[in-house]
Amino acid sequence: MNASLDIQPLSSWINTEGKPLVIAGPCSAETEEQMLETATQIKEEGFAHVLRAGIWKPRTRPGSFEGMGEAALPWLMAAKKETGLPVAIEVANPQHIELALKYGVDILWIGARTTVNPFNVQELADALKGVDVPVLVKNPVNPDLQLWIGALERLNQAGVTKLGAIHRGFSNAQETKFRNSPMWNIAIELKTLLPNLPVIGDPSHMAGKRAYLYEVAQRALDLNYDGLIIESHREPDKAWSDAAQQLTPAALGQMLHDLHVRKESYGSDYQSQLEVVRGKIDNLDRELLETLAARMSLVEKLAEYKRDNNVAAYQVDRFREVLETRAGWGKSLNLYPNLVDELFKLVHMESIRKQTEVMNQVSA
Ligand code: PEP
Ligand code: MN
Repeated sequence: MNASLDIQPLSSWINTEGKPLVIAGPCSAETEEQMLETATQIKEEGFAHVLRAGIWKPRTRPGSFEGMGEAALPWLMAAKKETGLPVAIEVANPQHIELALKYGVDILWIGARTTVNPFNVQELADALKGVDVPVLVKNPVNPDLQLWIGALERLNQAGVTKLGAIHRGFSNAQETKFRNSPMWNIAIELKTLLPNLPVIGDPSHMAGKRAYLYEVAQRALDLNYDGLIIESHREPDKAWSDAAQQLTPAALGQMLHDLHVRKESYGSDYQSQLEVVRGKIDNLDRELLETLAARMSLVEKLAEYKRDNNVAAYQVDRFREVLETRAGWGKSLNLYPNLVDELFKLVHMESIRKQTEVMNQVSA
């Protein structure tokens, strides 16, 4: 399905002086003091364009810290006044929106647990009709690109044009080193389908641990993301939520300083090198396809032989052998195991289709 959104550029609602947007602040606003001190330190570090804080926290189990609610909004406003930075919070229902606007919150985001539910998203969209506020939509918890796009469309149809996406990763049944699997290809597809949509990376919720923040943030910048939203707390280990993934403002300042921001437009020298490498890649891709075509004509020969000897097109032992040997070859060539596995599943599926076609041609 085609998607197109009427979106204003990021620069229409925030001035980042050409740098990636940085949104920083605690996972949750816990106390007035914690909020103000964290915000002041962030301001002093000088890297942030926007302050974030969780006011209402969606927690998996009841009894976990669920946010301070409305009581925390004046603290956030005090932090805004103190630092001069605009503030962003998560909203999950129309009442949250009403309160956020009443207190003067500048930017809203929709959390991953809300994006999954089109009923909730529609309620938020309806509440935002006629309101001129930027809204960032986190990806849904499950890896469903259409659901993410659907949420963006609902908001856009309600007239929200200062719109962006936050890529925070996807929950994954398997144990992985990350809290939420990035599944970068989903965000890349989003960027491809909606080139004018600002996309912001959320390394905190992908990494889940301080030690992995840098690599995730760098990857997002390498993919030309428009910014980062990162959790920062004056005393991360004592945070009431998401303690393992938060950084002190100073540590975050250092990390951002160490990250490499890739240039969007390249110098002519770089451009020509790029073209040379792309040309080589084009040639290799052509060779890949020629090799595939040669393989398919062998498969046709095999099918004729099987047909004449009345043998089935598919033999499970052979399939297993193909996957196993190719996995070994791929490994010795340093190829990513999943790539080799998926590739040969596809190639084998096409072989079976081709063989069935050949075998039926004569018997029909
Ligand atoms: C958060 O930003 O603190 C948060 C709860 O995020 P998510 O919706 O991505 O889980
Ligand atoms: Mn959090």
